[in-house]
Amino acid sequence: MSDQLLVDPAEPAAPIQALLTALLLRGASEGMQAMAERETEFPNRLAAQLTGIALDPTARGHADDILDGYWSDEQRQQQMLRADGTGREVIIGSGFHAAVYAAVRVRSGHPRPLVLERDARAGGTFAMTARPTFYLNSRNRAGGAGLAGDQQAALNYLPGAPIQAANVGMREYQTNTDIAFVIRLALAQFADVVTNATVRSATGDRTGVRIELDGRSPLSAGRVIDARGLGDPISQDVADGRSILTFAQFMARMGGMWPLRGLRRAAVIGGGDSGKCAVESLLGIGPQPLMAAAALDSVERIDWYAEDLPDTCDEWQQQIRGRYQAIGRYLRPDRLLTVMRRRARPIALPGAALIDGRTYDLVIVCTGNRETDIDGLGDGFFDEYRTADQAVVAREHYNLPALRVGPHARLPFTRQERDDGIADIPQNAVAMFRTAPKTAALAATLPALPRD
Ligand SMILES: Cc1cc2nc3c(=O)[nH]c(=O)nc-3n(C[C@H](O)[C@H](O)[C@H](O)COP(=O)(O)OP(=O)(O)OC[C@H]3O[C@@H](n4cnc5c(N)ncnc54)[C@H](O)[C@@H]3O)c2cc1C
Repeated sequence: MSDQLLVDPAEPAAPIQALLTALLLRGASEGMQAMAERETEFPNRLAAQLTGIALDPTARGHADDILDGYWSDEQRQQQMLRADGTGREVIIGSGFHAAVYAAVRVRSGHPRPLVLERDARAGGTFAMTARPTFYLNSRNRAGGAGLAGDQQAALNYLPGAPIQAANVGMREYQTNTDIAFVIRLALAQFADVVTNATVRSATGDRTGVRIELDGRSPLSAGRVIDARGLGDPISQDVADGRSILTFAQFMARMGGMWPLRGLRRAAVIGGGDSGKCAVESLLGIGPQPLMAAAALDSVERIDWYAEDLPDTCDEWQQQIRGRYQAIGRYLRPDRLLTVMRRRARPIALPGAALIDGRTYDLVIVCTGNRETDIDGLGDGFFDEYRTADQAVVAREHYNLPALRVGPHARLPFTRQERDDGIADIPQNAVAMFRTAPKTAALAATLPALPRD
């Protein structure tokens, strides 16, 4: 690593400069102007400006569009993909962990990694919609990185990011697009991003990796950070995209016009976080969609197929954690939600879906994810990777300079995490507060590449 590479995190990188300039040309944002008064309360001017943009919905919308345009520009993409790659790190995926790795890596004095994202929109799971469509389940708190029990620690903390989720709003539980904005700004500041770039395979040896992409020329990398995330829905083959939807397809619908129009009877299959967020949307207690009103479109009956969930209001209130308490109120016998404690497999009919002889206008299948296939980077190729203090923070490929980070690395709970009670909540396995420090430790300690 060289001193000249040390980046001043207060200086906007090219995409951030592009969005600041474009917003100023549009007459600045009210948020940016208001923030000028409070600039001294921030670590630097850039953090004040970006917080101003994040808090001003119009400016945030413009900023999002500018970033999408920047990252999808074909000429810029070609330039990024053609650049000589043996000294470069390539990150697969553009979600929370790509942003953590890039931010910490660059701030530790290494070059900007190249991020390859298969979707048209960078930002990963939380950026699956451009409008808010679900609430996070981890509380919005100010503070630095830390564990769930530490009231002074922020749970949605992105190490090294220009601004934190706690800068973006006051709500106790923020929306997916709040954290997505923080992730996207971190990527803009600390990575080169190419969207619509699906990685198909990785081959090579200890000295480098050749990466094959869908419909584009191959490229080389000195190291691959595999941040593929939670994977693809198991239910992908059952969903027909019309009356049977995956969680992501349903969220895309909730992000569009009149998402609940024509829905009288709906079913949700699966009781995890995605299932709960889908049920909240149908009940009208998720984030307000752009065009939806109770007078026009209210769902009359929701059947929820989930083997392990309580089916009465009282049991719900005793057994289910705080974030999802509101759902329990709809489980009274006269209310519209019924938990069916069994497995279900829907069948698509013309204009409807069928489960156990009942027809539904819409079925949303939230039954978990399976790994996205990339030849050469399958599960069996990876083993635990430890930092010098013996902490397991990632998984390392046995033959390629490739490491898996985030929930995708499936790191078991440590003894400390069990002692601290973190392991008592299974969802904590993928929680940002648990996985971010591991990815950050990896980014801070991996040796430089030979030509870095
Ligand atoms: C409904 C829901 C709510 C959640 N709420 C919370 C919460 O409140 N708090 C919390 O801590 N955690 C929460 N999580 C978990 C959290 O979303 C994940 O742990 C986190 O997003 C993982 O980040 P990641 O970067 O590893 O992966 P992701 O954000 O999933 O990003 C992975 C990216 O990789 C891309 N990709 C995959 N394959 C390829 C390929 N072959 N080529 C190129 N790109 C590829 C994908 O398109 C995706 O954009 C929630 C999850 C869900 C589903």
